[in-house]
Amino acid sequence: MTKDFVHLHLHTEYSLLDGSGKVNKVIEKVKELGMKSVAITDHGAMYGCVEFYKAAQEAGIKAIIGCEIYLAGKDHRIKSLEGGNDTYHLVLLVKNQQGYNNLMKIVTEASLNGFYYKPRVDVEYLKAHSEGLIALSACLGGTVAKHLLRDEKEKARQWAITFKDIFGEDFYLEVQNHGMEEQIKVNSEIISLARELNIELVATNDVHYIEKEDYKAHDVLICIQTGKTVDDENRMSYLPGEFYIRSREEMEELFPDLEEALDNTVKIAEKCDYHYEFHHSKLPNFPLPEGTDHYEYLVQQCYKGLEERYDVITDEIKSRMDYELNIIKTMGYVDYFLIVWDFIKYAIDNNIMTGPGRGSAAGSIVAYTLGITKIDPIKYGLIFERFLNPERVSMPDVDSGATRW
Ligand SMILES: [Zn+2]
Ligand SMILES: [Zn+2]
Repeated sequence: MTKDFVHLHLHTEYSLLDGSGKVNKVIEKVKELGMKSVAITDHGAMYGCVEFYKAAQEAGIKAIIGCEIYLAGKDHRIKSLEGGNDTYHLVLLVKNQQGYNNLMKIVTEASLNGFYYKPRVDVEYLKAHSEGLIALSACLGGTVAKHLLRDEKEKARQWAITFKDIFGEDFYLEVQNHGMEEQIKVNSEIISLARELNIELVATNDVHYIEKEDYKAHDVLICIQTGKTVDDENRMSYLPGEFYIRSREEMEELFPDLEEALDNTVKIAEKCDYHYEFHHSKLPNFPLPEGTDHYEYLVQQCYKGLEERYDVITDEIKSRMDYELNIIKTMGYVDYFLIVWDFIKYAIDNNIMTGPGRGSAAGSIVAYTLGITKIDPIKYGLIFERFLNPERVSMPDVDSGATRW
């Protein structure tokens, strides 16, 4: 019986203008090959992860969430090439919830603060957010391979040590063989580094399309990306027919003496156990001093507002208030109201226009007393249930924008 193999370095169509494999087709192919798991590692982004996860679940295949990130050689917030601010590739795979949270942080930080041609983070940021992640040293664009290619062996070695320090046993030196001379040269050195530093190896195929013959269409895609035509002889192109979803047998042909590196793909897949939780809203908490009861705090703010807005607090007003507060509490929206109260208050304090309360939120005396809306629902006979209704559970929606009448 042939052994299993897991593709841990795979670009889908969400590696924009670089990968051509549609997510559902990728999964179909993996299933056809009898593989049990597969990873998604698009360039610098996670747009495809949810779609990939769902398609894999449906096909009974385990999805491994990941990303091939860009690592800045220096501080990622420096947006220039001064001082040799090189950019490298690194494959990250999610082991668990914490790993997923960290990967989101890394990808977000890279796009928000580290974007210089590519979304990048530096090694310090990576280190601070490495928990729950597995790292593979990536392609020829990885730090280790890139330095080996330049004959900077000591630097390559230092990078391997850095990653081992950060990720421990979850760092793997990656070998690829797409028939490129550079890879053959680098691979033997990567293997000796692995032996010397006691780091495990992993074999991957840098998947950019699904079937071998898809390379033609993929080539056109690369031309679109680089603004070249297929007739241009001096353009960037991939070696034809190499970057597809290979079977275990085909991978064995590429790495006849590295069975461990093939087997390790399965071991890595086993380490990964992350599942999305859909249809469950995860609301943020409103930060309050420790020991403060959030509901009590909300009640206090509401009663403060109540006294400011009504000369006489009638039983009707009071019972309406208690009724609404009770529903808000039962439905779990206490922090939601505190957050909306907080940003509307900030807007008012800073002379930023807010709306008087459009739509159903105007039917809430809680919203009115918190200053979120400016319309008295009692005076105008507005109904709270249009806004929040325990019979029909849906997120509250406060239209807070200012309108020019
Ligand atoms: Zn790469
Ligand atoms: Zn890649």
